[in-house]
Amino acid sequence: MNTRNPQNVVVVGGGTAGWMTASYLKAAFGDRISVTLVESGRIGTIGVGEATFSDIRHFFQFLDLKEEDWMPACNATYKLAVRFEDWREPGHHFYHPFEQMRSVGGFPLTDWWLQNGLTDRFDKDCFVIASLCDAGRSPRHLDGRLFEQDYVEGGEEPVGLTMSEHQGKTQFPYAYHFEAALLAKYLTKYSVDRGVRHIVDEVQDVRLDERGWIDHVVTKEHGELHGDLFVDCTGFRGLLINKALGVPFQSYQDTLPNDSAVALQVPLDMQARGLRPCTTATAQEAGWIWTIPLFGRIGTGYVYAKDYCSPEEAERTLREFVGPGAEDVEANHIRMRIGRSRESWANNCVAIGLSSGFVEPLESTGIFFIHHAIEQLVKFFPAADWHPKLRDMYNSAIANVMDGVREFLVLHYIGAKRDDTQYWKDTKTRAIPDGLAERLERWKVQLPDSENIFPYYHGLPPYSYMCILLGGGAIPLRPSPSLALSDDTAARKEFAAIRDKARHLVERLPAQYEYHARLH
Ligand code: FAD
Repeated sequence: MNTRNPQNVVVVGGGTAGWMTASYLKAAFGDRISVTLVESGRIGTIGVGEATFSDIRHFFQFLDLKEEDWMPACNATYKLAVRFEDWREPGHHFYHPFEQMRSVGGFPLTDWWLQNGLTDRFDKDCFVIASLCDAGRSPRHLDGRLFEQDYVEGGEEPVGLTMSEHQGKTQFPYAYHFEAALLAKYLTKYSVDRGVRHIVDEVQDVRLDERGWIDHVVTKEHGELHGDLFVDCTGFRGLLINKALGVPFQSYQDTLPNDSAVALQVPLDMQARGLRPCTTATAQEAGWIWTIPLFGRIGTGYVYAKDYCSPEEAERTLREFVGPGAEDVEANHIRMRIGRSRESWANNCVAIGLSSGFVEPLESTGIFFIHHAIEQLVKFFPAADWHPKLRDMYNSAIANVMDGVREFLVLHYIGAKRDDTQYWKDTKTRAIPDGLAERLERWKVQLPDSENIFPYYHGLPPYSYMCILLGGGAIPLRPSPSLALSDDTAARKEFAAIRDKARHLVERLPAQYEYHARLH
């Protein structure tokens, strides 16, 4: 057994996971630990992963990084929502916004909407952000004020879009899109400036001691790297956690069949095109295409199941979808490992990032998993006795987040009305995670609430489920029976107030491109 606190941390891998981990650990522990990061100059990073989830703001705040500094350096833009196109039927779209659901008389507004909505757009009736996305608005005024502040200053009640609490975490009304390679570069400088030792070299071997713990890794040119704690950020390879320590990988493929992606980085005139303040997920015959608007280019890719579509067909579909501008851009074909390592912390190795697990990019949870894992690592950081309970609590937290998100993603497919191809037909008959069938039956008579969704923290509040169910349109939903006996005056007023606020904001907020152009 080790007898001293683990002070020497070796991070293997320099993708988003590696650099987020190194920088966060330094921000948390300063010089009380030493951090070495080794990354291969030959093996590239995954080259995707540019849309985030709103909790990410906690990461930048923890590192004390200001938006006006890091955002222009990473060609970053704001993301207010995910826009789902064609999941119900061609031409239909809806938003899953980062906006707290309001309630009236103890019932969420979506419940009232089912009873008596103003229009057929639940997202526009219940959320301000849906209108901001349709109009391509920035969430900030040119002077930097956040959109909600209009109502505070105007003497009206704040609409409560931000700073809501969900299972102990503050939710923000927006997340970010950023160029992953530029963020890694930015965090490299941040980390090295704070003492992280950066080695560009390839790890060729992982040597274990007699207990099966990692003693050191062997690099090609820098010899042995010894440490107390090793963080595996080697991506889908899982070089330390799976290959060296033999932790098995548990696949989610039976419930989430997409196992492949093809991606393009397309330089486009974003001023002419406009910067939508959301990620778009457009359903396709055998999966869906993401569009991530960055300052200067879009990131786009087709996520598909190779049982239904070949890589050539996927690339052709993606290029047709993008249109002119991508002819000279080389496609990045990716095989995805969907599922999680049975344990993400084994002995003195913690896997963070794709080595730990991955669902699929729908809802952009990969970077959220990384951030969550780093927070848990700091919370359960091992002491001299490496108490196994710290490890166990860490492993439960990681497993719950990924299993919870898997369930939420499965809901997107069974909840989508689309059934025009074999791929979409099969989404309705495939196995679903344990517990979801029972929850679905409940949601048909009582919309999702904090009592009846996946029971452990997984980052998603109940209103997220409502958006997917209401937007997808495949699952019959009904309002709470007691609403038929209730006075709906206050609910109607709230719907009208949201429409008014949305109109007011669309008139006053700048286009997202205009806002970011000022910072560049
Ligand atoms: P990688 O980027 O693969 O980095 C691995 C690192 O390990 C590299 O630096 C490599 O050099 C190093 N390495 C490997 N072997 C060795 C070795 N032997 N010696 C030394 N170094 C080594 N997440 C989101 O949040 N939003 C999204 O929109 C999103 N989209 C995605 C789309 C797709 C198609 C996929 C597959 C993933 C997506 N993700 C997304 C997930 C996201 O990309 C990852 O979570 C994130 O990029 C972290 O990757 P990583 O650092 O774990 O691995």
